Amino acid sequence: MLELDCENCSNVTVQGLRALQHGVLERLACGGPLRETMNELCRRAERLAPAVICSVLTVDREGRLHPLAGPSLPDHYSMSLDGMRMGPDAGSCGAAAYFGEPVEVTDIEHDPRWADFRALALPLGLRACWSSPIRASDDRVVGTFAFYYPSCRGASPLDRTIVETCVHLCAIALEQEERKERIHRLAYFDAVTGVANRASMEQHGETTVAAAVANGFGAAIHCVDLDNFKEINDTLGHRAGDILLRSVGERIAAIVNKGDIVARIGGDEFAMVQSHAASAADVVGFATRLMEAMAAPFDLEEAMATVGVSVGIARAPKDGYDLRTLMRKADFALYEAKSSGRGHFRFFDPEIESRIAANRRIWQDLKQAVAAGEFELHFQPIVALGVTRVCGYEALLRWRHPRDGLRTPEDFLPVATKAGLLYEIGAWILNEACASAAALPPDTRVSVNVTQVQLEKTGFADDVAAALAASRMDPSRLEIEIAGSVRLADNAEILDCLTAIRAQGVSVALDDFGVGGSALAHLHALPVNRIKIGRPLAQQAQSSPRAATIVQTIIDLAHELGITTTAEGVETDTQLRMLGQFGCDEVQGFVISPPRPLSAFLDGAETIGGGAHPPSSLA
Ligand code: C2E
Ligand code: CA
Ligand code: CA
Repeated sequence: MLELDCENCSNVTVQGLRALQHGVLERLACGGPLRETMNELCRRAERLAPAVICSVLTVDREGRLHPLAGPSLPDHYSMSLDGMRMGPDAGSCGAAAYFGEPVEVTDIEHDPRWADFRALALPLGLRACWSSPIRASDDRVVGTFAFYYPSCRGASPLDRTIVETCVHLCAIALEQEERKERIHRLAYFDAVTGVANRASMEQHGETTVAAAVANGFGAAIHCVDLDNFKEINDTLGHRAGDILLRSVGERIAAIVNKGDIVARIGGDEFAMVQSHAASAADVVGFATRLMEAMAAPFDLEEAMATVGVSVGIARAPKDGYDLRTLMRKADFALYEAKSSGRGHFRFFDPEIESRIAANRRIWQDLKQAVAAGEFELHFQPIVALGVTRVCGYEALLRWRHPRDGLRTPEDFLPVATKAGLLYEIGAWILNEACASAAALPPDTRVSVNVTQVQLEKTGFADDVAAALAASRMDPSRLEIEIAGSVRLADNAEILDCLTAIRAQGVSVALDDFGVGGSALAHLHALPVNRIKIGRPLAQQAQSSPRAATIVQTIIDLAHELGITTTAEGVETDTQLRMLGQFGCDEVQGFVISPPRPLSAFLDGAETIGGGAHPPSSLA
């Protein structure tokens, strides 16, 4: 209980003040709505000081006043004060807030501080106004409490006692409200960006979607992912990362419509609920505006940065009725948008879901496939054209899946790569290939395929050395085939790794040359011994004169650089003859043999062809 300093009060007043205190504190303790509690306080104070009219205004951080309670004042009066700036001449309340001191105006009609407001007050019979600041415990002025009188007069000692009590109670109430708001903000808003957080999205999104479906409008969920957030965060620091997130939140908030929801739901993931999305065009329009809003560079203080965004979209009621389902589907669509090149938006379609489900099954099964011994290597012979003999074998991975049978790498390698399982599988391949070499003729080499993530991992060159040592394989018999998709020439780590591999006496081949990313321009910078002319190009040479010229040119150029050439995917005698005429050094393909288990090439088994004789052009 507050101390009541009440020399001048009658017993009735003391009891009234106690009751006022008790009533207000009880309401505060029960967490009742602030406005009602403050109205109750005013009403009780007015009963104790007859003919007085009370009002409570709050002061925001920008120094503007807002009506909170004033049950005996007409609404239009309170409303017209809303947003008023505090200041020395802003009426009793505006001045009290401004000076942080009580301001007693005994004659509204003639006091200059009321010049702007007297026209409002006088017709209501308000003649005098005594306003006191309400301070928070850190001394900030958070509100004002005013007594209006119907005659020109000052405050009585009794009035002072009542006001003192009321101001104290108001301070407690306003601080409690601030605390509640802070907790609410922490619980429902993201601290970095100020937009809603996941919890808030889940709570309000559900209602918004349900309402949109019920109204027949339909809604859409847009899941947004920043393509290069991690890069920016890592290179420019967390402060820049936070500024970026905040600006992204602001840009998104600026394009949404009333009733839409913007939330940050993960590190660099935002989600929006578009509450009016009747047609696909509405949704596309929204996603397009979003991408456009992100296109301009962001000012991160130390640097400007451009950020790509990918967006996954699910629609209600088409893709689902509840927020959880829609979020899941928008997330599938986002995943698809990201894996198909980033920087654009994708709608959910059921095919995405089944593909992701299939990949998830593969991933589950893959996790124990090495341990369960389900992988094997098949070998495809490579023939040297000049001497017409098998000069090497390419090791190709196969997965003997317990349920689905033999699976080829294109099915599962992308999943293994994404799941980070390729290192473990890659180590197994390397050791197995080197071990197999012992069983193959000593004058043949064994080629092992590796991809970018394997090369980038530190210690790959050491793994190669270890596999050679364990199998006692002559390093000159091992060749590393690097995938054509690898961006090599501008990657110092990979160049170092390749150089270290070459230093061990192991050779390096560039796979799928002339297909996709593999380009002539990089050849001079790369420490490779061989290029493998990719299947599509080698095959087109048969039917397209242009392709034939390209193949011929590649072979000539390679030879000038001291690089050997192998054509792969050779299927016909015609292709074979043609490649021979072009001066290609080696060929590989079904025309000679498909990849087969090691046993097919061991002593006693025929070495070439699927049981058939070597093709006529080789004889
Ligand atoms: P790649 O390195 O270009 O391997 C050649 C692919 O072409 C093999 O498919 C092979 O079976 C197939 N092929 C060979 N001759 C012919 C032909 O005459 N006609 C046709 N149509 N195809 C032919 P596979 O074994 O399914 O391998 C596919 C890709 O998977 C490989 O392409 C390679 O990039 C990757 N891969 C295979 N094994 C491994 C491995 O052990 N490690 C890594 N990192 N990647 C591997
Ligand atoms: Ca290869
Ligand atoms: Ca290839």
